[in-house]
Amino acid sequence: MNKANQRDGAQLAPWKTIVNDEPFVSVTSAPKQTDVIIIGAGITGVTAALRLIKAGKNVLLIDAHNPGFGTTGGTSAHINTFIDTTYKEAEDAFGLDGAKLLADAVNEGFAEIKANIAEYNIECDYAELPGYIYAEDDDQVKELDNVYNGTSRVGVSIREVESVPVNVPYKQALILDGQAQFHPLKYLNGLLRAFNDAGGFVLENTLIDDISKEGVLHKCIAGDKYFYAKDVFYATHIPPKITSFSFRCAPYRSYVVAVELTNAQYPDALIYDLQEPYHYFRTHVIDGQPLLLVGGNDHKTGHDDPDQAFADLEFYVRKYYEVASVKYKWSSQYYIPADGLPYIGQMPETAARVWCATGYNGNGMMLGSISAKIVSDLILGIENRYEKLFSPSRIKPIAGFGEFVKENADVAYHFVADRFKAEDIDSFKEIEAGSGKIVELDGEKIAAYKDEAGLIHALSPVCTHAGCFVNWNNKEKSWDCPCHGARYDIDGNVLTGPADKGLEKFTTN
Ligand SMILES: Cc1cc2nc3c(=O)[nH]c(=O)nc-3n(C[C@H](O)[C@H](O)[C@H](O)COP(=O)(O)OP(=O)(O)OC[C@H]3O[C@@H](n4cnc5c(N)ncnc54)[C@H](O)[C@@H]3O)c2cc1C
Repeated sequence: MNKANQRDGAQLAPWKTIVNDEPFVSVTSAPKQTDVIIIGAGITGVTAALRLIKAGKNVLLIDAHNPGFGTTGGTSAHINTFIDTTYKEAEDAFGLDGAKLLADAVNEGFAEIKANIAEYNIECDYAELPGYIYAEDDDQVKELDNVYNGTSRVGVSIREVESVPVNVPYKQALILDGQAQFHPLKYLNGLLRAFNDAGGFVLENTLIDDISKEGVLHKCIAGDKYFYAKDVFYATHIPPKITSFSFRCAPYRSYVVAVELTNAQYPDALIYDLQEPYHYFRTHVIDGQPLLLVGGNDHKTGHDDPDQAFADLEFYVRKYYEVASVKYKWSSQYYIPADGLPYIGQMPETAARVWCATGYNGNGMMLGSISAKIVSDLILGIENRYEKLFSPSRIKPIAGFGEFVKENADVAYHFVADRFKAEDIDSFKEIEAGSGKIVELDGEKIAAYKDEAGLIHALSPVCTHAGCFVNWNNKEKSWDCPCHGARYDIDGNVLTGPADKGLEKFTTN
């Protein structure tokens, strides 16, 4: 029975104030064999599970924690007709037909959410609103022109606008009608209810640590428990272990604050700037209280200081808005794909009929929903017109996505340099209560967390995924790997893949 509604960080996201009352199966009552096993109960996995059960498949949905534990529980829940990879960038890399197909996929993902809300009668604060993008200087005006031209060419409606409901001064702006927002966990819970009603099985707190092939079946291994299926879908946001995705998807943290204003200047719109990294503004009513949600200050996981990122974001909001109080602040993780498009389909380097979907950038509401549709079609033997464009086996030069190349170069750097660069400190004394640090003890590096009672939780700092050293994230109280974004809690348990094993524990006296 599910009652927990945790997420992969210590900071509370406003979506997490609701609980899921759906009855879930226990590990002993879960079916040992089904047609399909879906690993990961975020928007991707739950949407796919519902589609497949409705198509007549027997489905087991497994999560290492609880539904919504991952980024779906830490998203900012915009639903758009455009994505972070601009249509201009997509056209440059994949041609106009490729960019048009991408736009169709984004819109179909959007439509999938809307259709599910209507079909399953899901109350999830869904609202359609205009979306604005504005430029603050001449360089951004040029970028805005590119956005306008690229978006128009793929047939997505966009036009110039005089006025934007934002307090930030701007030079020029565009408007996209018919964007939307919702409460991601109310939506997820609605899908889960429909999945349960249709006879689906949800198994929580079960980390799949390996898959092997036995005849025509895949064996999903969770410690000493096994579950069999003909098809397995890694809807884990990033597939586990060292795979080609370790080098094709760069992990980023992104920050959000939800503030109460002293006046009623809450925008009835979704608003984005063109800074690098960008900011966005939107309003959501939580427990009767309108809140201004402002996001941004993204950085590569394990690199910048999360305290500073929150401080900078809060400073930025206060510069333009009269803030009465900060009600929520949280961060979460996303993955930038090497060539700008997500990877959806047969998982490379594995047996046939193991599927995956990853590399959504900050657009997983639409891309997770369309992934669910694409992978469901592939499982059901239905042709899907997006299969080739998003194929994880595609080979595409990554020129033009300079940010990715620059960022991923430091994966190699961290493999080498972490061994020598950890801070040299000879005792645990300097660690503040409630905080963590890499310390050295008898020549051995230790990831040490000091709890409020003064007890040290000592772990090996070596990430179990690819052997880099983890860094302390003082806001989400987690150990974050700067190479591929694996994250662990203070006792070394995996919070975020691609690691599928916890950090090794040290015993201290
Ligand atoms: C701050 C922020 C704001 C965002 N805002 C937007 C937005 O406004 N609009 C938008 O479209 N997108 C947005 N995104 C992106 C979007 O939220 C994500 O792309 C999307 O939620 C990913 O969903 P998912 O189901 O693929 O993965 P997740 O929600 O991360 O779910 C993966 C699940 O897999 C489970 N899991 C992992 N490994 C295993 C294993 N080995 N065994 C069992 N279970 C496992 C995890 O516990 C988790 O529950 C945002 C991202 C961030 C970080």
